Amino acid sequence: MAGFDVCVSGSGAVAMSLALALSADGWKVAWARSPDSAKPAAPDVRTYALNARAIKLLERLRVWPALQAFSSPVVEMDVRGDGGGALSFSAWQQCVRELAWIVDAAELERLLGEALRFAPRVAVVPPVSEQGAPVEASLLAICEGKHSSTRAALGVSFARQEYGHWGVAARLKATQVHHSVARQWFRSPDILALLPFNQPDPQASYGLVWSVPKARAEHLLALSPTEFECELQDAILQSDPSAPAKVGALSLTSPVAAWPLALAQASRWTGPGWVLLGDAAHQVHPLAGQGLNLGLADVDTLVQVLKQARSAEPWRTPGDERTLRRYARQREWPTKAMAGLTDGLLHLFADQRTPMKDVRNAGMSLVQSLGPVKSWLIGKALDA
Ligand SMILES: Cc1cc2nc3c(=O)[nH]c(=O)nc-3n(C[C@H](O)[C@H](O)[C@H](O)COP(=O)(O)OP(=O)(O)OC[C@H]3O[C@@H](n4cnc5c(N)ncnc54)[C@H](O)[C@@H]3O)c2cc1C
Repeated sequence: MAGFDVCVSGSGAVAMSLALALSADGWKVAWARSPDSAKPAAPDVRTYALNARAIKLLERLRVWPALQAFSSPVVEMDVRGDGGGALSFSAWQQCVRELAWIVDAAELERLLGEALRFAPRVAVVPPVSEQGAPVEASLLAICEGKHSSTRAALGVSFARQEYGHWGVAARLKATQVHHSVARQWFRSPDILALLPFNQPDPQASYGLVWSVPKARAEHLLALSPTEFECELQDAILQSDPSAPAKVGALSLTSPVAAWPLALAQASRWTGPGWVLLGDAAHQVHPLAGQGLNLGLADVDTLVQVLKQARSAEPWRTPGDERTLRRYARQREWPTKAMAGLTDGLLHLFADQRTPMKDVRNAGMSLVQSLGPVKSWLIGKALDA
């Protein structure tokens, strides 16, 4: 297939969604993936909370019907502070069927890869090298994640603020039914989330995301499964004495893995013939479960911008910088807002001084009592 419209570089969910969406819109796509991505060394144990916009995109890409079997809806969220503060959100209050879906990260990537095998107008090509893109294409879409080498080669800086925290993830099963309730405890300095999941036990499994200081993560990773389960139950009990009765006893059903957490934003998102999407453009703390949601919203926006330009200004190629700047304008602000929100929350809960503890817990209870503020917050999360 000679003469490509877009070369998509990257091997994760953002790259694959973009390649699929572009091919569905009739563009000729070269997919430059890393050769080892087809056989990951170990399955990803994470579960992702995906919002309504991300699910709509996966529906359009026809991946959702198969992925739904590996997903669970969230109808309620119960968020607790470290001094009596509490916030709860429910789908019925927001007049939506569910607040989010919890999806299996490994299955998401596998099903996107499967769909790409049958997508028209997509050719797999070698990765981008020091000599540049492997094929001629009007646009190079860089979706290589946070360590993107192509972004670095373009001279785009990616100011990273390391949190010194790691996100510890695992799969669990519980002795109590989860009732589709997601639970999160801001414990200062760590944040612990249990995301309701239906595998291996329907209605009684969870995805764990536990953000802890690096030394604590190293300690947790070195524990035996039984020791890990004990530390986890202790942490939940300390945070909320009523929680063990609601959650039951938890046991591991997967290995425990951890990722370093950081806040980062690329200095430029576009240039002549290139564009950044997903973690290659921005990285946020997973406390609000928004990183991939932002990446999939990037995909949705870029695809719409290219489609509109093709019908309104057919003389412009996909790599036209003016068109690409429209994408950047639409995506930079929501991404910065989400980065600011997660970073602000993290710092608010990292401060261990008593006045700050009182302020943040009172703040949570205040938001709980202010219906419109709560609805605004959840609206932002539903549609990043
Ligand atoms: C513990 C944890 C929990 C999270 N939970 C959530 C959540 O609940 N909801 C949510 O929305 N987000 C969540 N996230 C964030 C989410 O994982 C990321 O935002 C998402 O994976 C970014 O996808 P991506 O495709 O942009 O990048 P990546 O997933 O990093 O994929 C990029 C891929 O491209 C490959 N690559 C790199 N260079 C090249 C190259 N030159 N050529 C070809 N391939 C290349 C990389 O090896 C990688 O496989 C979480 C993150 C963590 C750490």
